[in-house]
Amino acid sequence: MTTGGDDIFEPAAEPEKNILQVVIRCMTPPDEAQRARIRDLLIAERGCDDVEFVIRRDESAGDGFNIFVGDDNYDWSTLGRVRQLRRSFQSLQREKQFGGIISLLREDIADFSLHTGHQQVGTVIAVSDGIAVISGLHEVCYGEIVFFPGGAKGLVQDLRADGTAGVILFSGASEIAAGDIVLRTRRTAGVPISNRILGRMIDPLGAPIDGKGPIDAKEYFPLERPAPGIVERKSVSRPLETGILAIDAMFPIGRGQRELIIGDRETGKTSVAVDTILNQKGKNVICVYVAISQKASSVQRVVSALERAGAMDYTVIVSSPASDPASLQYIAPYTGCAVAEYFMSHGRDTLVVYDDLSKHAVAYRTISLLLERSPGREAYPGDVFYLHSRLLERSAQLSDALGGGSMTALPIVETQAGDVSAYIPTNIISITDGQLFLASDLFYSGQRPAVNVGLSVSRVGGAAQTGLMKKAVGSVRLDLAQYREMQVFAQFGSELDEQTALQLKYGAGLMQLLRQPAHAPFSMRDQVILLLTAQARYFLDVPPKEIQKVRAELLAWFEQTHASLCLRIDHASAWSDKLKAEILAKIAEIKAKLDSPDAGTAK
Ligand code: ATP
Ligand code: MG
Repeated sequence: MTTGGDDIFEPAAEPEKNILQVVIRCMTPPDEAQRARIRDLLIAERGCDDVEFVIRRDESAGDGFNIFVGDDNYDWSTLGRVRQLRRSFQSLQREKQFGGIISLLREDIADFSLHTGHQQVGTVIAVSDGIAVISGLHEVCYGEIVFFPGGAKGLVQDLRADGTAGVILFSGASEIAAGDIVLRTRRTAGVPISNRILGRMIDPLGAPIDGKGPIDAKEYFPLERPAPGIVERKSVSRPLETGILAIDAMFPIGRGQRELIIGDRETGKTSVAVDTILNQKGKNVICVYVAISQKASSVQRVVSALERAGAMDYTVIVSSPASDPASLQYIAPYTGCAVAEYFMSHGRDTLVVYDDLSKHAVAYRTISLLLERSPGREAYPGDVFYLHSRLLERSAQLSDALGGGSMTALPIVETQAGDVSAYIPTNIISITDGQLFLASDLFYSGQRPAVNVGLSVSRVGGAAQTGLMKKAVGSVRLDLAQYREMQVFAQFGSELDEQTALQLKYGAGLMQLLRQPAHAPFSMRDQVILLLTAQARYFLDVPPKEIQKVRAELLAWFEQTHASLCLRIDHASAWSDKLKAEILAKIAEIKAKLDSPDAGTAK
């Protein structure tokens, strides 16, 4: 034992035993009683037979001990205790529990006993552009959170053969310098969560950013989780109504389905997703809207629309605006997914909107290039498919044994000049169960929502559509396809036979009928009435410009004068010819009232 600068090795008791070598950095070496306690602790924790102490003089340890066992560090130096206090203080400050710090200080001053917890400590080798390269943490895991001295957090993303690791930094990158220590947490990234998260806006790390105070979180849900397996799922069989006639009629979405919304910029993609959230009011569906790399003003517009319609009560917003580092934008959709998963695991139906995954892919590309991974097609890394497949595969309709909850996903992808065959769009098209293609030419011609009927598809939603809706839709999709074809021919020929002219007129009326303003969802009953009216050709003699007005009048008339019939439609899920005949009779009644004597009959 010495207080000089030399190392002193104490002889090991029995060389054939499993003896752990322990380095103690200190100013004053531990006395016999302290040694005995350290020995007992390490024998209990490490399962060794005995401990061999190497004492090194280190002024930075103050009047404590800094104990190293390989990479592991039990830091009871003065500095270590101060650091620990500082971290606790920061987290307490964040939680605005100033009262707690006083008792914590008292406890710490009184407590000079050795704790059994220990930390592995590494060193920062380099830091730049939101990426830190660290060494010394040989057991650190992929996806683990690590801490830096100032309280900054990072996520391990790259484990390299030379023992170093690449860490993406979430905040405080400017406070980290080469040579700083880095601590393991043995925890993967997650989001603190409870029911109280409803109506709140959070950042990708789960911290509230709406100024409404802390969220009383009881559970911690990991951001990354394996998707439910086949036995844990059941088939999609219940509809998730968007309230948009063009979608519910022709491309129905089921609970647990993944339906891509794809289109050029400014084609109403966000509006379709927001309308779907608005339409879930009173339908017992929890909604999560994830805004990735969007302007803060756009996110605010969505929040206002939801607040105005009273939809925030059942919605959570996860926002990582364009000003956030790429690391936060990268984890944002996983945070949204974890929030939805929490409610799904409690048997609830959920809807999660990822707005949008093209920007998410760009954030991941940035991170990958900075981590020096090889770029592939369009400079995206090779695992960009897995980036989205592991996210979207987590959407599911869970089996009854697991509570029967569901997660429906509406990912959004932005295309350039309508090119659906670019890398990211084709990847996501192949992962999802269908896509709603929004075309900019339709959008600018006033056909909104600009759903391109030819390129859109819903692969599993048909099974979820109610019998009533299925029959009411009838051949609308086919009629529209015929209309598009005839429209092309009609451009060449001047003379059209009567039948073709009628088909064109009917098609144009249908297109008008499918126009719908943003944030004005139709109920299922409204949709059934409108579809039956259209197919009975009752809109044929209404001038196209008037269709929307007549439509509103028709629906209002039904609601006011035939409330009991409306109620029956609301509660009928299966098709009945009697109901159809009744609805058509009522439509004929109002038509007869409104028709001028010279108007031609529809059929
Ligand atoms: P971005 O590419 O910027 O994300 P986007 O494709 O998400 O755009 P939106 O922001 O939803 O498009 O819509 C663009 C504009 O079109 C908005 O001003 C919105 O109000 C309008 N709009 C969207 N849908 C409709 C609609 N059905 N009827 C009328 N206007 C609409
Ligand atoms: Mg948008």
